Amino acid sequence: VVAVRQSSMTTTALKSARDAEQRARRKAEVASAAKSDFLAVISHEIRTPMNAVISAANLLRRTRLDIRQREHVSMLIDAGDVLMGLLNDVLDFSKIEAGKMELESADMVVRERLATMARLWEPRAMANGVRLRLRVAPEVPEAVRTDPLRFQQILFNLLSNAVKFTGDGEIVVAVDWDGARLSVAVSDTGCGIPADRLTQVFNSFEQADVGTTRRHGGTGLGLAISRRLAEIMGGTLSVESVEGHGSTFILTLPVPAVVGEAVRPERRIE
Ligand code: ADP
Repeated sequence: VVAVRQSSMTTTALKSARDAEQRARRKAEVASAAKSDFLAVISHEIRTPMNAVISAANLLRRTRLDIRQREHVSMLIDAGDVLMGLLNDVLDFSKIEAGKMELESADMVVRERLATMARLWEPRAMANGVRLRLRVAPEVPEAVRTDPLRFQQILFNLLSNAVKFTGDGEIVVAVDWDGARLSVAVSDTGCGIPADRLTQVFNSFEQADVGTTRRHGGTGLGLAISRRLAEIMGGTLSVESVEGHGSTFILTLPVPAVVGEAVRPERRIE
């Protein structure tokens, strides 16, 4: 009798511990959704006046200004761009968290899209003393069906980080195809990421080295958004890194290949 009573007490205790855990998890989810909603509303509200500030500063830049005035207007525009990037990140992140991120689908001409991105980042890399190389394997199809804007957003984040965390060295963007999946590896010879921080860099608002990052700016949202986008697109985003030697971020996306006559040009990317 004692044994039976003890075992039913243990079952009851276990059940109530499980219930408490579930309640705590639900509470955390509700709090996180509320935080996300709040950030989204605030970001949205700030974006409209911020757009006006940036537009006005751009108009001002076209007027006759002396060197100092021009410098001040440029500072205004640069700061505005950073703030807009931050607001867009917060909005994207909350959209993903709320399960409201919708994907587009179009034919992306692979070599052209990547060459454009490399051209965009080359001057910034060179300013840091970094060489940027693009290597596309011959078997990579002419075009793939994907969301070109989101693909570009992920690559933009990876290249921006590679440039930010590499001084004097090399960045290689290597594109491969296994018959069903496109993979893009962005490797750098930069500062690398400590082994114990490797998985955390994909968490929201997480930065591997607070000191370095504070010097470089950033929100800690870029990789969280990039990984979630890759997953929504049915793919993965992973990292390999050796501290002091560099990092490789690998994006893999299952995408249908489109070749020859079937290729319809992708919509314009702003
Ligand atoms: P952030 O806006 O801070 O760059 P991310 O989510 O893009 O946010 O990156 C998170 C953190 O991961 C960075 O703050 C940095 O510590 C680390 N990290 C990302 N990419 C690299 C890289 N290529 N080399 C070294 N560290 C990196």
